[in-house]
Amino acid sequence: MNAPPPGRRPRFPLGLAQMGQPAGPKPAAMARPQRPLQQAVQDAARMSRPATGLGMDSDAVRARMVQRLRVDGIRDEAVLAAFGRVLRHRFVDSALATQAYEDTSLPIGLEQTISKPSVVARMLALLGDTETARARGSLGRVLEVGTGCGYQTALLAELARHVVSIERLKPLHDKARVHLDDGRGHHRIRLVWGDGRVGHGPQAPYDSIIAAAGGEDLPPAWLEQLADGGRLVAPMHEPGSRRQSLLVVDRQGDRYLRQRHETVLFVPLKSGVE
Ligand code: SAH
Repeated sequence: MNAPPPGRRPRFPLGLAQMGQPAGPKPAAMARPQRPLQQAVQDAARMSRPATGLGMDSDAVRARMVQRLRVDGIRDEAVLAAFGRVLRHRFVDSALATQAYEDTSLPIGLEQTISKPSVVARMLALLGDTETARARGSLGRVLEVGTGCGYQTALLAELARHVVSIERLKPLHDKARVHLDDGRGHHRIRLVWGDGRVGHGPQAPYDSIIAAAGGEDLPPAWLEQLADGGRLVAPMHEPGSRRQSLLVVDRQGDRYLRQRHETVLFVPLKSGVE
């Protein structure tokens, strides 16, 4: 629908404006300044899609990433299928698109990073590894803390009934909205700009809660907003140590059962919004 006219396809995906595009034909969205900024950004994103250079062969590169996740021990077929469907290169800056399917974290601006695929896959597999989730056949209603660029949000939307995702940094919240707006499953996603330490009361309780930033302690709101039979997965500092590991908490009525898993390294969970 929004395909650019032949011969005018921009060479770069998202981030065109930040790249300091030199002289040459301007993208149509930028040539009509009276249009709302949000609309223009979205159009630019849509237009750029087939021209990433990676677009044509990204299926094969993504299939290789999925194969690596399988070799690394991810057995959850739904998680693997989600990684096969969501185009990670659309969530990172164009300059980094060629690295998008490597097992590495990448900068997304404001000192934040998109997490490593293997760690995201491990956390999603842990989240779904409960009797309740298996019986339901989905992660149910999910709360995600730390939207970042929105990549994990898109994966969650493939695996859940509904996702509420909170980000404290407004520019990243806005960027995620652009990335996810025309993505599959977007009707299942609600993006919130706020402090995820207080969760999101209006849509609680959640069957699954996942955090993408590591804190010193477990915010009480997360435990309160976790549904009975639900599971929470979060990177958390080990008491008295700088080391972070994955913490899994299962709620059974008023009981919260905790397990510690492997060591990880996530950006800090901060308070307030910016
Ligand atoms: N899953 C994200 C990872 C982003 S990094 C992705 O795929 O891109 C973690 C994010 O958590 C950062 O964007 C950071 O700003 C955010 N964050 C840290 N503390 C937060 C808080 N209290 N509430 C909401 N977001 C928070």
